[in-house]
Amino acid sequence: MDFEYSDKVQDLRERLMAFMDEHVYPIERERDEFNEDPANRWVRWPGIEPIKAKAKEAGLWNLFLPHEHGQWSPGLTNLEYAPLAEIMGRVIGSSEFFNCSAPDTGNMEVLALYGTPEQQERWLKPLLAGEIRSSYVMTEPGVASSDATNIETTIVADGDDYVINGRKWWISSAMDPNTKLYILLGKTGGDNAPRHQRHSQILIPAGTPGVEIVRPLDVFHAVHSPGGHAEMIFKDVRVPKENLILGEGRGFEIAQGRLGPGRIHHCMRLIG
Ligand SMILES: Cc1cc2nc3c(=O)[nH]c(=O)nc-3n(C[C@H](O)[C@H](O)[C@H](O)COP(=O)(O)OP(=O)(O)OC[C@H]3O[C@@H](n4cnc5c(N)ncnc54)[C@H](O)[C@@H]3O)c2cc1C
Repeated sequence: MDFEYSDKVQDLRERLMAFMDEHVYPIERERDEFNEDPANRWVRWPGIEPIKAKAKEAGLWNLFLPHEHGQWSPGLTNLEYAPLAEIMGRVIGSSEFFNCSAPDTGNMEVLALYGTPEQQERWLKPLLAGEIRSSYVMTEPGVASSDATNIETTIVADGDDYVINGRKWWISSAMDPNTKLYILLGKTGGDNAPRHQRHSQILIPAGTPGVEIVRPLDVFHAVHSPGGHAEMIFKDVRVPKENLILGEGRGFEIAQGRLGPGRIHHCMRLIG
């Protein structure tokens, strides 16, 4: 594999590093102090939106979204994006300035890859524009969730709707006031269905009755405000059948498609 930077990547690296010098390193301390101040818990640092607007204007926006997604993508491959994620990783949380932050990136890829035109219109477009944020809702306290086939939350068909019941935790970004969408993995098939076809993924708008945020969790004594990582209960949460992604039993397949590029993004940011 050829790891040399192409001219396009070299140009983007230089522009990204210049942007970090001008707009990101100078505000890092101020932003961190704001986010770590308990008085500002779950409040977004007000400086973030102006920096996002500048990044968008500079063409440093949605760089993570691979070229296969044509109309929505700035045209890079995952290999080309990797060194750019590394530069963003030099300041924790800076990827949000470029609309390249988890869990939104994976969620946007799910919607771009598997969403219907209606799902893309309602959720993908505002996510790509950086107008809203989102959470990915898989992990559960009751089961070993590193194997997604263990997930027990149920998604049960009822008339024109699905009804969701279960308990989740470690749900990143769930505390962010801008988070308007949850993509939830749950079980639609019985135990007789093949193990990798028992689960599905469904779109749940934030604020749907029955969704309860139990508490924020902390990671080595940090709560990572404003996004946080929440424990959540879904009790008789009802959404229309059109909210299912791709079809019943396709959840594991979607999870694999979602996590592949995300692993590279996280690793490159950590190297940065
Ligand atoms: C900061 C942070 C953010 C997160 N954000 C999200 C998020 O946004 N959305 C989300 O859904 N989840 C999120 N998670 C959860 C994360 O994805 C899970 O913690 C991870 O997948 C592991 O699942 P688990 O915690 O259930 O651990 P487990 O699956 O219980 O694993 C615990 C340990 O047991 C081992 N183990 C598991 N099964 C077996 C077996 N059969 N045999 C032997 N050993 C085994 C594992 O290797 C591991 O060492 C986040 C976690 C953290 C810490």
